[in-house]
Amino acid sequence: MPDATAKRELGRGERVLRGVYRLRLPLPWPGVPHCNAWALQAGDGFVLVDTGVHDEHSMEQLERALAMCGLSIADVRLVVCTHAHSDHCGQAVPIVQRAECELWMHPSHELMSRMVDDPEAVLARRLEVARQSGVPEEPLRRYAAQRGNSEPLIVGPLQADRELVDGVTVQTDLGEWIAYETPGHAPSHVCLFQPERRLLISGDHLLGRISLYFEYGYSSNPVGEFLRSLDVVERLGARLCLAGHGRTFADVHAHIHGNRALVEDHLYKVLTAVGEEPLTAFDVVGRVYGEELSQQNGQWLLSQTLGYLTHLESTGGVTRIAGEPERWAA
Ligand SMILES: [Zn+2]
Ligand SMILES: [Zn+2]
Repeated sequence: MPDATAKRELGRGERVLRGVYRLRLPLPWPGVPHCNAWALQAGDGFVLVDTGVHDEHSMEQLERALAMCGLSIADVRLVVCTHAHSDHCGQAVPIVQRAECELWMHPSHELMSRMVDDPEAVLARRLEVARQSGVPEEPLRRYAAQRGNSEPLIVGPLQADRELVDGVTVQTDLGEWIAYETPGHAPSHVCLFQPERRLLISGDHLLGRISLYFEYGYSSNPVGEFLRSLDVVERLGARLCLAGHGRTFADVHAHIHGNRALVEDHLYKVLTAVGEEPLTAFDVVGRVYGEELSQQNGQWLLSQTLGYLTHLESTGGVTRIAGEPERWAA
């Protein structure tokens, strides 16, 4: 079997502004080769925003990236996580243990905590949602078998020393960063804004290459929350975005509009797919995306579609028809 880690890139660090370093950390996922953590100089040490995933080489990669910026784990004074996904908080716990510092994150991290405590239960719940959404038994069994082998890439327990909610501030040499809750991508998502320099650490809420993801099943309407979070960020008037993946980007407003347009486009497609005849979410996936569900895209396509359907239900565009499986009608 080919060794997936052999092709992975190495952790790399670079200064992007005075007192701000981008730490580019490898990921084991096809199509998403790396994520960013950010080191913000603060007194005799630094605040680390996000951490990368946890696996057997991840700490080495982080150390390598930090060393390229003249930093080390011992200088971490605080770990802040933009949201509870494994690429952003996977190794938060081992870092705070080594650096003997606090961990701040938003409290709505039910999915990740369950993933740490009982990954089997998370998988079982996903399969139940898939079954309820009309996914046939055969592919369901295949996903169960394949997903069962995947690593959670996170160390627990996820226990924040401080809840990172609206208005919490993080002190750095560059000035104070203010937390803004921006749920949608994940219920625990928070952006950090530095008002004097109009810098936004955007996590996965805004990415340079627009790609949408909604964590379905852990809040009532993730798509609606995401749209409101775009409004929140738009009002800040950021001039530079330090995102969770990819390069920094300056045209923040264009990205906000791009996200909105993409969501509207998907909502329209889902709404048009749901006709007079009731369909399962699985049927809708086929009509909207025209793709076969696979291990790579199955969970993603289904949760996105359920997210759009739920939002359309809240705006009165579609109706949910309870049953086994659940169906949707215009
Ligand atoms: Zn994420
Ligand atoms: Zn991410």
